[in-house]
Amino acid sequence: MMSDDSLFDDALSRLDEAAAHLNIDADVIEKLKFPRETTKVRLMIRMDDGSRKSFLAWRCRYDDTRGPTKGGIRFHPEATIDEVETLAFWMTFKCAVMNLPYGGGKGAVQVDPRKLSKAEVERLSRAYIQAFSRIIGPDRDIPAPDVYTNSMIMGWMADEYAQIVGQAEPAVITGKPIALGGSLGRSDATARGGYYLVRHLAKDLNLAPSLRVAVQGFGNAGQHIARLLAEDGHKIVAVSDSEGAVFATDGLNLDALFAAKNDGRSVATTAGQHGHTALAADDLVGVECELLVPAALENMIDEDNAGSVKAKLVLELANGPVTPEGDAILAKNGVIVLPDILANAGGVTVSYFEWVQNRQGYYWTVEEIHVRLRTIMEREGQAIWELSRDKGITMRTAAYVHALSRLAEAIEAHGTQN
Ligand code: GLU
Repeated sequence: MMSDDSLFDDALSRLDEAAAHLNIDADVIEKLKFPRETTKVRLMIRMDDGSRKSFLAWRCRYDDTRGPTKGGIRFHPEATIDEVETLAFWMTFKCAVMNLPYGGGKGAVQVDPRKLSKAEVERLSRAYIQAFSRIIGPDRDIPAPDVYTNSMIMGWMADEYAQIVGQAEPAVITGKPIALGGSLGRSDATARGGYYLVRHLAKDLNLAPSLRVAVQGFGNAGQHIARLLAEDGHKIVAVSDSEGAVFATDGLNLDALFAAKNDGRSVATTAGQHGHTALAADDLVGVECELLVPAALENMIDEDNAGSVKAKLVLELANGPVTPEGDAILAKNGVIVLPDILANAGGVTVSYFEWVQNRQGYYWTVEEIHVRLRTIMEREGQAIWELSRDKGITMRTAAYVHALSRLAEAIEAHGTQN
C-alpha cells in the first residue's frame, strides 16, 4: 500500500530521527525543514514537426549554508515539485556527509525524453538554461546529470550558458563531456563510490569473498556497479530495468546486457539466451542474493516488499529507494542498508573534483581521481560506521547525524542575521 505521506514528509522524518541524537538548536531544524527557494517555469520548445510544446520545469536551491547549491537535473515524465524538493533536501545532506563545500539543489523537467528526438532534447536542454540562467552560476548553483540526463545534455547546457554570459564558464555545470572540461572518472563515479564503500566495509560486515548481487535499474549507476563488482569476482544474478528483469543463478552475461542497453532494448530481451530467464521486475528485490543494489527510482522498497528481501546488505545507489516503513522492516530483519546520502555520493564527489579542476584550469589523471574518491569514501564511510556502532543506530540515521552536525555548525557559524 502506498503511504499517504509525501516524499518530502518521509524525508523530513529522517531529519527528526537524527536530531534526536544530537543536541542542536531548534533554529537549525527550522532552517533545514523548508527549501530556501524553488522556481517553476514552463519551457516552450519547437518540435521537429514545426508545432510548439510546453513542459513544466523546476530548479530548487534547498540550502546554501555550506556553499553554492549542487545537484542534478532530472528529465522524467512523472517529475513533481515534491520530488524535486526532496531530491534537493537529500543533496544538502549528501554534500554535508562528504564534507564537500556545497549546499543542496536539484532540478527537473516533466518530460519523457525517450519520446523526443535528439534535436528536440537539445532545444529543451537549452531552454532550461535560458530559463534558469540567473539562478545557476559557478558560485551559486551548479547542476549535473541525474535520471535520463547525461554528459551530452550537460555539454549543450554549458554551451548555452557560455552564450548567455558571453564567455566560457565550465564550472557552472558538472558531468560535462571531457572535451568541454569534464572530469575523467565522472561517468562511473556514482557506482565506483558505492563499490569502494562496500569493499572498505567488507570485513566489518563479514562479507563473503564472492557475493551474489541483484541490481534494480540498469542505467548509469546500475551498469557500472554490475561491471565493477563482476570484475572483483562477484556474481550478478539478477538485473531489472523499467520494462522487465532477467535472472541467472550462475551469473548473467553482462556483455549481452550492455549490448541490449546500447541498442535501446530492455534487459528483458536477453531472456532465453545465455542462460538468462525472465523475471517480473517487481520480483527482483526478493531474489536469493547477498547484496541488493537499488539503482532506479524512489520508493521501490516499501512495506509491501521489504519483507521479501533476502539480501543481508543493501547498497542504495538510487536516491530514496527505501521508504521509512520499508526501512523499519529491513532493520527488524537484520538487513544493513548503506544509505543513499553516503552510498551514491561518489557522483557528486567527482562533480566537485570537476568543478575544482575547471576553476584551477589544471586536470588530474584518472588514477588521481580514483584515489581521491576512495579516500573520501573510506573516511566518511568509516566515521558513519563507527557512529552507527557506538550509538546503536542504523547506518542511515548515523549518516544523517554525521551530516546534521556539520550543517548545524555551519548554520551557527553564519550568525543570526539570516
Ligand atoms: N544526480 C547526482 C546525485 O543525485 C549527482 C549530482 C551532482 O553531481 O551534482 O547525487
